Amino acid sequence: MTPRHGAIAAALALAAALPYLQILPAWTTALATVTAFMALSLIGLNLIFGVGGMLALGQAAFVALPGYAAGLLIKFGVPTMLAIPAGVVAAIAIARLVAEIFVRLPGIYFAIGTLGFAFVVEGLARAFPAYTGGASGLVLDPPVSLGRDGWYALGVASLAAGILAFAFLVRGRFLRSLRLMRHDELAAQVLGIDVPRLKARVFTIGSAYSAVGGILLAYFVRVLAPESGGVNASLESLAMVIIGGSGSLFGPVLGAAGVQWLFAVSGGAAHYELLVYGLGFFLVVLFAPAGMAGAIRRAWSAATRSRPGEAAPAADSASQAAAGPGAELPARQRQGSGVCLEVERVAKHFGGLRAVDDVSFEVRFGQIVALIGPNGAGKSTLFNLVSGIEPLSGGRVRLAGRDIGDAPIHVRANDIGRSFQVPRLVGDMTTLDNVVLRFDHLSDRATEDEHRRRARAQLAAFGLAEFADRPVREIGIGYHKLIELARASAGDAPLLLLDEPAVGLTAEEVARLAAALQRLKSLGTAILVVEHNMDFVATIADEVVVMEGGRLIARGAPASVMADPGVQAAYFGALS
Ligand code: ADP
Ligand code: MG
Repeated sequence: MTPRHGAIAAALALAAALPYLQILPAWTTALATVTAFMALSLIGLNLIFGVGGMLALGQAAFVALPGYAAGLLIKFGVPTMLAIPAGVVAAIAIARLVAEIFVRLPGIYFAIGTLGFAFVVEGLARAFPAYTGGASGLVLDPPVSLGRDGWYALGVASLAAGILAFAFLVRGRFLRSLRLMRHDELAAQVLGIDVPRLKARVFTIGSAYSAVGGILLAYFVRVLAPESGGVNASLESLAMVIIGGSGSLFGPVLGAAGVQWLFAVSGGAAHYELLVYGLGFFLVVLFAPAGMAGAIRRAWSAATRSRPGEAAPAADSASQAAAGPGAELPARQRQGSGVCLEVERVAKHFGGLRAVDDVSFEVRFGQIVALIGPNGAGKSTLFNLVSGIEPLSGGRVRLAGRDIGDAPIHVRANDIGRSFQVPRLVGDMTTLDNVVLRFDHLSDRATEDEHRRRARAQLAAFGLAEFADRPVREIGIGYHKLIELARASAGDAPLLLLDEPAVGLTAEEVARLAAALQRLKSLGTAILVVEHNMDFVATIADEVVVMEGGRLIARGAPASVMADPGVQAAYFGALS
């Protein structure tokens, strides 16, 4: 146990005992119980919004839904002990359905859609008073009488279970995927993540938290008011998560406790409510963008900085030793002659513009093909057609003989490693984690430890071992292209698509890149590379394909293509 863990454990024990110590004014067991259930439901919103980055504006709907569903069942004669879990299950099922509908929409529509859902839930509760109690609320009788301390014990136990479950679930592969998705959805898909499915999963799990916390709270206070499922309550939930520290484990607990306590000490008067939220927001935005949890973390690290304390985790020395180029790259040799990528009469039209027009060529295993052409020639669009980012307007794309023209991006990702013109790495994740992300979503998955070992070996093979444990944003831009190449080629995908990998690199870095590509080629990888650096193209490419105005105008060995008068006119003429 580190000093930090010790401090957290002590703080938690103190927090749980707080209502009995009577040192904090207004912090009664009743208030602490309300806070515990509220915090439990906020863990869900923290997962959806804080970690997953999905702006759910109507989350209170799923806090109120299970109570109403249970109430309805009880009206129809279902025993309470059965109606409560059934209500929770119903709320989760509805969340699953709502997720299916909204997660495919762009972020803003997801926000508006969930907002609308909260209006609907509050609206239904008000519209059918015979079933919901209408504006005065639905009265709920707990099936067992727990007493003050019993409820508080249930609150603490369920919150502790919720936090533990969150800590257990939101780590490793799942956490990395969420952070990537939040940072860059396209990069997530290109690395093999089924983004709508992941979002639906996050939304459903998060809503399950909302539902469990919500129904416990409703039975504790014995009444469910329609506004508790509405938009205001949803926005207040969001405020509590942000004030507490969105994305952090204890953020929802701190936010719920802080806000509820402020209400209580300010006399519980409803007319202070907006002011408390408003000021809370201001203070957080101005002084603690990472919320109360972030402020506490900062204070803690400031207090412990002077001590020698925790040393940085020692890098895995076994894989560090394998730093020689190619040392640990999986040596899955492929037939040197087989065709990997076949692009046949491919077309992409944007309205009247023929961005790619009837283009055919192929890339064999163990071959490097350079795709060149002036700006606007259609090179990046062609890459997008091959990786599935844009649907084809015509033609076929085959990979090792299989037609992949209809496969979604994340499915093609298994066989295609791609780098972008502007690297799409997650800046606040370590270099190692950025590469582990690639292993996470390949079809031949291994354990977390094995993925980390492979990622370390991959970085070592690209001469990047020293950066493994540093966040990408702290590393010079010049290395980002190389890190992205290490990521794209991790896991030994048969095809690599590299969009201008040498742009912005120093001569030394270009040389390192060329060596890396030659090594991948020798392993049998098919490499298609868009590049403007002609010296680089001449050194590495086995074949050059020239595009202009969407059409393929020349193809062949580098020297002969570059000597072609048509290419000279179209390409070099356009550059000068
Ligand atoms: P290159 O990568 O060779 O510079 P692009 O593939 O980016 O060229 O672009 C080819 C042509 O297609 C350009 O005229 C560009 O403006 C157009 N284009 C690219 N993407 C889109 C899009 N999503 N919608 C409309 N036009 C596009
Ligand atoms: Mg381009």
